Amino acid sequence: PSDGWDAASLVKNADMAMYAAKSAGGGAYRFFTEAMNRKAQYRLELENSLRKALKRKELVLYYQSLVNDARRIVGMEALLRWHHPKMGLLLPADFIRISEETGIIVPVGKWVLQQACAQARCWHAMGFPDLFIAVNLSARQLVEPDFERMVTDVLEKSGLPPERLKLELSESSLIQNPEVCITKMKRLREVGVAFAIDDFGAGYASLSYLKRFPVDTLKIDRSFISDAMSSRGDQEVIKTIIAMARNLNIATVAEGVETVAQKDFLASHGCDRMQGFLFAHPVPVAQFDKLLERQRSAAPSTTTP
Ligand code: C2E
Ligand code: MG
Ligand code: MG
Repeated sequence: PSDGWDAASLVKNADMAMYAAKSAGGGAYRFFTEAMNRKAQYRLELENSLRKALKRKELVLYYQSLVNDARRIVGMEALLRWHHPKMGLLLPADFIRISEETGIIVPVGKWVLQQACAQARCWHAMGFPDLFIAVNLSARQLVEPDFERMVTDVLEKSGLPPERLKLELSESSLIQNPEVCITKMKRLREVGVAFAIDDFGAGYASLSYLKRFPVDTLKIDRSFISDAMSSRGDQEVIKTIIAMARNLNIATVAEGVETVAQKDFLASHGCDRMQGFLFAHPVPVAQFDKLLERQRSAAPSTTTP
């Protein structure tokens, strides 16, 4: 009696329990609960408002600096935020998965690329022509038949030199469809666009793939960095990734650097670039402008990417 007052809702709720069981995997079973109902409702609402978010201009990009060993900004990563009318500021963890599942990530991802490239072009015009912009991609975007055209069109319209764009893909999105990825990445690389593997080490970390994918940067997953000072094992993993990348002529970026001890450890082992709260949090455009201005007044030397 508590699972539904009529046949239709009983079947609907049974269905929800079945989905919960399926997503739990391993032959699990689940009873229907009110929480499942709330979750489904929440998803539906989120999906509906996400469809409108682009048109209502609720999405914004924050930017986080990437620094070299002298702590100078050499580039920035664009990170998506959503000013939800009711729920406030939402982080990617709250909505990226659902936008991938529904396919909304395709138009959203294109918007992100357009914004980020145009913004990078602005910073070049402000006197920082060496900065590169890193943009996150979902596997879902890469499999679109016109993916390469989309990227080259956006670049052309923005006026950003392709050499200043770095596309970040997670290991898991590369593994899903390696042959297609390799072909598309190679073609974009011919134009000058660079690729980075994001959160490296957290997923499959198939080393044989590393050689085959045309990537020029590995971003070492934050989990290794956060434990680096207390775990010998993580230190060894970091050292190994840096050494291996170097042998393959691939640059390394450490993600989530929060302490001076972490920075010193990474620098002493030859990590090329770093990103993390120690240097800067992700911030809106106006605040990033200030970071750049501060860098300009601090030292007149040019940035070396
Ligand atoms: P990511 O690409 O690995 O981005 C780095 C994440 O680490 C960001 O989280 C950033 O705020 C956070 N972070 C940076 N430094 C530190 C640190 O020192 N400590 C800690 N604890 N965290 C740090 P954010 O912005 O919440 O983004 C999460 C993920 O969402 C990103 O991970 C990326 O995979 C995805 N994402 C963000 N923007 C986009 C987008 O435009 N498109 C797609 N497809 N995915 C995006
Ligand atoms: Mg990233
Ligand atoms: Mg990452």
